[in-house]
Amino acid sequence: MAQFFKPPDVRISRQNVFLPLGETMTLGLWGAQEEPGRYLDIRVSNPAIASFADPLNSFRDWTIQQFKLRGNSLGRLRVEAVSRAGIVWDWIEVTVIEMDTAIKLTSMTQIYQAIQQGKLSFINVSDKRNFLAVYEGEQINGKAVQYSEELLKFLIAVLDGGRLTVLSLYRYNQSMHGEIQKSGEVVCRAVDIAAYGGVPITLDLPPRVISTIVSIIDKMPPALYQCGFPRPGGHEKFDPSKDVFFPVKDQETAMKCWNGTIAMDRSQLLPQAKAAVVPALQRAESRGAAFKAMYPDGLNHFCVFALLK
Ligand SMILES: [Zn+2]
Repeated sequence: MAQFFKPPDVRISRQNVFLPLGETMTLGLWGAQEEPGRYLDIRVSNPAIASFADPLNSFRDWTIQQFKLRGNSLGRLRVEAVSRAGIVWDWIEVTVIEMDTAIKLTSMTQIYQAIQQGKLSFINVSDKRNFLAVYEGEQINGKAVQYSEELLKFLIAVLDGGRLTVLSLYRYNQSMHGEIQKSGEVVCRAVDIAAYGGVPITLDLPPRVISTIVSIIDKMPPALYQCGFPRPGGHEKFDPSKDVFFPVKDQETAMKCWNGTIAMDRSQLLPQAKAAVVPALQRAESRGAAFKAMYPDGLNHFCVFALLK
């Protein structure tokens, strides 16, 4: 038996691994000898895409053989462990990708792991399905979709402080939830948060929702943010007696919230929210975050646009 692995001990037999262009990666083969003293031959199918690097310093002992691969050009190749008789004992695929893509993949993997661990959950099954499709490199309804690096970084930072429940993530052609680029690619830069740390973003207990939103702001990494605060009604509904963050005094204002044509600033927050939210915004700014427009948004969620600064 021979099995490819990624040091220290992650088995990667018959799987694909990503290698950033121009970088070198160490891999290994367990069970490296087909019989005592005879090592399996490790071959790459296309050295123009990736080739062995620094072979003289490759570690080898009785059971393990390590080797280094360097990414030479974009593409995919196969690495095989072949016996003297020409039999393939194990193989892996290696895909050489741009460094930018590799960095992004790292963030996507962290989010993927948070989903697998149950730290990140979705109210809509379609949001989970879409995320997993993008993670696997698939399109959504024929569109190439990406989650922006700023949004992924924001989600990772927030997840560091507790469980996150998402009301809505990618929505095609709906503001920053699914912004169509000139290239035809669609980028999601926004998330609607329904609960954080197991606490729902509802307005029935004002101190609780204020402290939940403050704890989200306190996790924001550097980026340019636009924040939509929860209000007691969606669409045309409004109820000034239940407002906690921004006042929505009439139906005309409510419709502006619904249409996304309203902007307010922190000085317009209601006193109880202002006392806690403004210092949190200032703390975030001292860490390198910046805030664009903020506004009353919709029912029972906190909407965050995470944009390039
Ligand atoms: Zn939103």
